[in-house]
Amino acid sequence: MSNWQEMEKKYLFNNTVRWSILPVKGKGSYLWDENGKKYLDLVGGWAVCCLGHSHPVMTKALTEQSKILVQCGPQSCNIPQLHLAELLVNISSCNRVFFANSGAEANEGAVKLARRYGKLKLNGAFTTITAYNSFHGRTLAMTAATGQAHYQDAYTPLPAGFVNVPFNDIEAIKNATTKDTCAVMLEPVQGEGGVNIPDEGYLKAVRQWCDEKGILLILDEVQTGIGRIGTMFGYQQFGIEPDIITLAKGLGGGIPIGAFMAKEKCAVFVPGDHGSTYGSNPLMCATSLAVMEYIIKNDIPAKAQKTGLYLIDGLIKLKSKYPFITDVRGRGLLAAIEFNKDISASVMAACVENGMMVNNVKPNAVRIMPPLTISIKEIDEALAIFDKVFAGVKV
Ligand SMILES: *Cc1c(COP(=O)(O)O)cnc(C)c1O
Repeated sequence: MSNWQEMEKKYLFNNTVRWSILPVKGKGSYLWDENGKKYLDLVGGWAVCCLGHSHPVMTKALTEQSKILVQCGPQSCNIPQLHLAELLVNISSCNRVFFANSGAEANEGAVKLARRYGKLKLNGAFTTITAYNSFHGRTLAMTAATGQAHYQDAYTPLPAGFVNVPFNDIEAIKNATTKDTCAVMLEPVQGEGGVNIPDEGYLKAVRQWCDEKGILLILDEVQTGIGRIGTMFGYQQFGIEPDIITLAKGLGGGIPIGAFMAKEKCAVFVPGDHGSTYGSNPLMCATSLAVMEYIIKNDIPAKAQKTGLYLIDGLIKLKSKYPFITDVRGRGLLAAIEFNKDISASVMAACVENGMMVNNVKPNAVRIMPPLTISIKEIDEALAIFDKVFAGVKV
């Protein structure tokens, strides 16, 4: 397909800066473009393809379920949905599950649940405190929740009921808490904000504050969940349990599914309170179930933890070789390399040129979020490409 860029300009909105290549095929940790050029994919469908591209377990479940029952709607439950909900309850600290179609929709549902709780149990409290540099999705309400001006400014006035405060700052949360506060919503490690890891003790202090005030703690694990940072859920590394967890991205291994889960005490919905036409779609739930069973059986989070340490180790070596690298940070297989100048777009372009996909998450930082199944050999390949690319950076 030679005219794809013309078609892109003609038919698509100019709503995002896209890669200069057209991926047409994916297998494992690799992508191929329309010219047959192969790329090591450190983006993995945006931290989604946890088992790599087109894993046979995923495609088999998708194919088989598509012949049985694809869609039935919210007025009935279905077998894949029930099994997937049971699995998620068994591996988490939550008791109930609602399935949605995306991360933004999962977060919307979580905030609606917190507001419902606020009406019933907290004298009508409705405000959710979120952090600067967070990312919670692209709906209008989640744009208000997302504490980054460049996502918000074009869409004011934003829906009310959100307060953004500095991340990793418990005093800021305390100061922002009023009688109207029903919840605090945080990512355990901020993803789109540049892979920001909180200090030891921050999430514990937030948990304690929420308990003291009787307000809910929502963890947005859309990116950190399902093994991404080296444990099934991110919260497991911080010695706390949230009241509500949201998931999407890795949950389906590549197919669109999201979910929010809650502890029994805040499962306050009554019939009519919330719903979704495609949420709990049997095709998506059956596929996610097969992916999740494979992840659990093969302890993929532990593998991600191990390969992640190897990756960070290699990146730290590159940092000591190239003085323009000012920071390397990560947990599991979510990592960022930060530079002393705004060179991430050109670093990304050079990586693409050399057959590797990365994400320029900030003007001065690239993000790495490969399939959790990436091998040590493939990490070595990635480090060699970074070395070559960094050697060519003019500073
Ligand atoms: C990607 C992401 C979202 C939004 O998910 P969508 O599926 O794009 O709606 C929300 N929260 C976090 C932490 C994310 O990384």
